[in-house]
Amino acid sequence: MNTMDCVKVRDSILNTLSLDFKKLNFVPTLAVVVVGDDNAGKVYLNSIKKTAKKLGVDVITYIYPVNILEEDLIKNIQILNNDNNITSILIEMPLPNHINYSNISLAIAKEKDVDCIHPENIGLLLMNENKFTPCTPKSILSILDHYEIPLDGKHCVLIGRSNIIGKPLTSMLLERNATITICHSKTIDIGNTTNKGDILISAVGIPNFVTKDMVKDDAIVIDVGINRDKFNKVCGDVDFINVKDKCSHITSVPKGVGCITVTMLMKNVLTSCVIKGETNE
Ligand code: NAP
Repeated sequence: MNTMDCVKVRDSILNTLSLDFKKLNFVPTLAVVVVGDDNAGKVYLNSIKKTAKKLGVDVITYIYPVNILEEDLIKNIQILNNDNNITSILIEMPLPNHINYSNISLAIAKEKDVDCIHPENIGLLLMNENKFTPCTPKSILSILDHYEIPLDGKHCVLIGRSNIIGKPLTSMLLERNATITICHSKTIDIGNTTNKGDILISAVGIPNFVTKDMVKDDAIVIDVGINRDKFNKVCGDVDFINVKDKCSHITSVPKGVGCITVTMLMKNVLTSCVIKGETNE
């Protein structure tokens, strides 16, 4: 078993990225839109601010009350779209239930959409013509690439089909010639599917969901989940202690996929700056 060192993966990407940011002749500004007062959201925001500071990216946070009307949120996003000083926009998810995800994703200027949620950006991803790439799927691929794990012809089993992880990741893995099976909450006898995967990627959100019997011998296991166990400790979806000796490679939680996600967000911030540079030429 080899626990993959995601901190090392992140630092190597960050080093290259920092050189790319130095080449810009303006200061990038990322607007982070937060609705409500969610604890996980605060942790994510702090992590964004920390990485942004290292790269010389300004972050402006716009915090709105949890009961903000959808139309008012859209008006505020449009102001950011039209503000020439804002290069990049991130809307923290999840949004409250009364706000429609599709309407918000459509409202963001597609050239500032660093979370890659605008339908046109997602469509371009499906055609492999995208400029922005969803951050968590991109982090997963960066780990596999760092460890030189080939995807061509491999059977990848994903658990989870969310708009931000499972769906875009499927498209990205297909582009790399993997064969993909997607499991979700309605999948029957899930273990009998997951234990066929050469590469098993779990993005469910339930501690200890993936048990040893669900994993193929010598599989590569990527744990995307960020959860709290009964002792309030951060943990993933995988029963790490019991699964680790069955697989050839595994990611841990914490210090797993999650530690790379913000770096991938900053890669998209750089992309939005390049687009701005091209537009102003
Ligand atoms: P989500 O939107 O709630 O999606 C969860 C997925 O898991 C859904 O597709 C759901 O199926 C499936 N699922 C739920 N219960 C299941 C069960 N009993 N059996 C099989 N499938 C089941 O969550 P998300 O936003 O994708 O996030 C998933 C996890 O990743 C969370 O722990 C989150 O904190 C973490 N996360 C990590 C990162 C990172 O950077 N590492 C980034 C974002 C999120 P249905 O579609 O049928 O409901």
